Amino acid sequence: RAKAQRGEHICYYEEGMDETARRRRQIANDLRHAIANGELHLLYQPQRSLRTGALSGYEALLRWQHPRHGFIPPDVFIPIAEETGSIFEIGEWVLRDACREAKQWPGEEKVAVNLSAVQFIKPDLVSTIRQILADTGLSPTRLELEITETAIIGDKLRALHCLRQLKAMGISVAIDDFGTGYSSLDTLHSFPFDKIKIDKSFLLRSENSAQARAIISAVLALGKSLQIPVLAEGVENEAQLLVLESEGCDEAQGYYFGRPDTPPSHHRKAVANS
Ligand code: C2E
Ligand code: MG
Ligand code: MG
Ligand code: MG
Repeated sequence: RAKAQRGEHICYYEEGMDETARRRRQIANDLRHAIANGELHLLYQPQRSLRTGALSGYEALLRWQHPRHGFIPPDVFIPIAEETGSIFEIGEWVLRDACREAKQWPGEEKVAVNLSAVQFIKPDLVSTIRQILADTGLSPTRLELEITETAIIGDKLRALHCLRQLKAMGISVAIDDFGTGYSSLDTLHSFPFDKIKIDKSFLLRSENSAQARAIISAVLALGKSLQIPVLAEGVENEAQLLVLESEGCDEAQGYYFGRPDTPPSHHRKAVANS
């Protein structure tokens, strides 16, 4: 009986694994056609300056509307795209679409685009971006790239070289999800980032966790001493905002200011038509 049960367990487990693997293969396969089928689109979330209250930029966030499975979140499909190499085509599509969109805005807000670590170390990244800026006519100073530390822990020299080339073009680079994973003071010091984005997990826990609040304060102090502006992600209410303001945080982003939404250029058209 015990043996049979164990047997059943193993069998069940393997079926589960099979199902997960099958689903991943399916997603990987479907992703290859997602661009051509027009299943991808970008939403834009506002970023506010806490110094002036002005809108400083929008982060482009990728969405995939699968014809049968419906909405699949980027946290699910981006890692799969990275494994299979689809990320290069997808990443280039994202950059082009975001730059084309930002070019239409009447203001000079930045557009922040997430770059995956594997994209960042690809040798032709810089020339690809240069070409996209030339094609869309967007000023490089309007483009901000968001990378996480995983992008620079591998080949540090390569990453540094790439970062310097991008910065020489006038593009700015933010370190995303700071405080999680491999974040280290050493990286911040040796890589010329233009912005630190505090990971949203700290803001989301800040009301119940003294530790989360301490980490936010520490990152703000760090940004101040290194003279790198700090943006807090995941600001959902006024209480969180007041704390950030009192501690001198430079910028903020979160549901309190606005959820990821249809492209800003669409809003204007909607207003103009009404
Ligand atoms: P991220 O770059 O750190 O983006 C911030 C995430 O936090 C977004 O999730 C956003 O919708 C969510 N968020 C913003 N404000 C709040 C808030 O106040 N509360 C809460 N609970 N969440 C908030 P999303 O859009 O699901 O994206 C998840 C991750 O997927 C992104 O994290 C980024 O790492 C990745 N991603 C999204 N678009 C792209 C892309 O075009 N390329 C690459 N390589 N990665 C992308
Ligand atoms: Mg980001
Ligand atoms: Mg983040
Ligand atoms: Mg993230």
